[in-house]
Amino acid sequence: MFKGLSKSEKLFEEAKQYIPGGVNSPVRAYSSVGMNPPFIVRGDGSKLYDEDGNVYIDYVQSWGPLILGHRHPQVVEALQECLEIGTSFGAPTALETELAKLTIDLIPSMEMVRMVNSGTEATMSALRLARGYTERDKIVKFKGNYHGHADHLLIDAGSGALTLGVPTSPGVPQSIAQNTITAPYNDLDTVKKIFEMEGKNIAAVILEPVAGNMGCIPPRPGFLEGLREVTSQYGSLLIFDEVMSGFRAGLHGAQGVYNIDPDLTCLGKVIGGGLPVGAYGGKKKIMEQIAPAGPVYQAGTLSGNPLAMTAGLATLKVLSAPGVFAEIENKAAKLSEGLQQAAKETGLTAAFNRVGTMQSVFFTSKEVVDFDTASSSDLDKFTKFFQIMLKEGIYLAPSQYEAGFMSIAHTDEDIEKTVAAAKKAFSEIA
Ligand code: PMP
Repeated sequence: MFKGLSKSEKLFEEAKQYIPGGVNSPVRAYSSVGMNPPFIVRGDGSKLYDEDGNVYIDYVQSWGPLILGHRHPQVVEALQECLEIGTSFGAPTALETELAKLTIDLIPSMEMVRMVNSGTEATMSALRLARGYTERDKIVKFKGNYHGHADHLLIDAGSGALTLGVPTSPGVPQSIAQNTITAPYNDLDTVKKIFEMEGKNIAAVILEPVAGNMGCIPPRPGFLEGLREVTSQYGSLLIFDEVMSGFRAGLHGAQGVYNIDPDLTCLGKVIGGGLPVGAYGGKKKIMEQIAPAGPVYQAGTLSGNPLAMTAGLATLKVLSAPGVFAEIENKAAKLSEGLQQAAKETGLTAAFNRVGTMQSVFFTSKEVVDFDTASSSDLDKFTKFFQIMLKEGIYLAPSQYEAGFMSIAHTDEDIEKTVAAAKKAFSEIA
């Protein structure tokens, strides 16, 4: 039984006095779903526990990183051991090479990798490298793709920027915005036209090879291949932002699923196993342009710290053991099939997208392939769905423009409960 959120509400009021909007990242404030957020006290496996004594089955998983669930025993044990040696040295450790090697083993296109502290840093640094390497300024990105909050990427952005209705933020200078060209997702023809006009000035095309930040949207057949071809033709770099899709769309990222060889790849989320890690990597001849090997500058006080490397290593070791990823993907497929069946039985029209362990439900009769079709989803229906699910103990991302995530910790019982709750919600909104 849902116990309400009265204690969380008091804590939120207090937080708002000291922290802008009461949160350290905008979507956490629940502003688009007409509620106040639960304040969390602990996580365990597939569950989250809040201040009011509610228990939720968690499909946010800290926005993606916790593919093994909360407090996976092997991650906890490795972190406890690591605490005995220290938290950060600002000096090289063998752990960093170990995580670099495992990352390069798992991500097919990567020959070298640099660790940073967030997805934002990864994409920002990859683009500086692309510009330094090509000696060009312009970049192409896609509407509704989110690549973190660096100025030149916060243009037509997805995720919280879309949820809050500010896809291009005040504070991004016009002089910077003018170097970012945007195109609709999955629209190769527009990209080709952009290249015909500007090709010689384009340093890179950056994209989410499976979009997650306008809800989950797979690439159309031929889209990624076409981008690979046109970027190669014009000497521009192709950057896959796999901060979300890396180790999620497939164990080897979206590039493994669709068999595409990008020049650079950005990682985040799962690679840190719940601690702050991002990474960018790719072809050796490009990566060797980064300082101190080359002239393109990028640095970080806490980059590669042992605690973060340890959480990432423990997570990737468990995840890459035979059969583990397939097991999580099977759970995600089971959930998706259950939800589709529930929609059918209740007469609800909706679009269901899933790639690997990420998925979304859109309340629309259209096939969802880009930002325009994603935004055809009925947001009132989404809000009702979200509220009913939360009260039924199902913790979803509080926005239509986010993906849901499966973990190894989710049980058959969790999935059955989720489908039963969804059936109830669907019948109320159908
Ligand atoms: N790129 C993608 C594809 C993302 O999903 C995100 C975060 N949701 C980022 C970049 C930014 O990562 P971070 O929040 O760690 O800065």
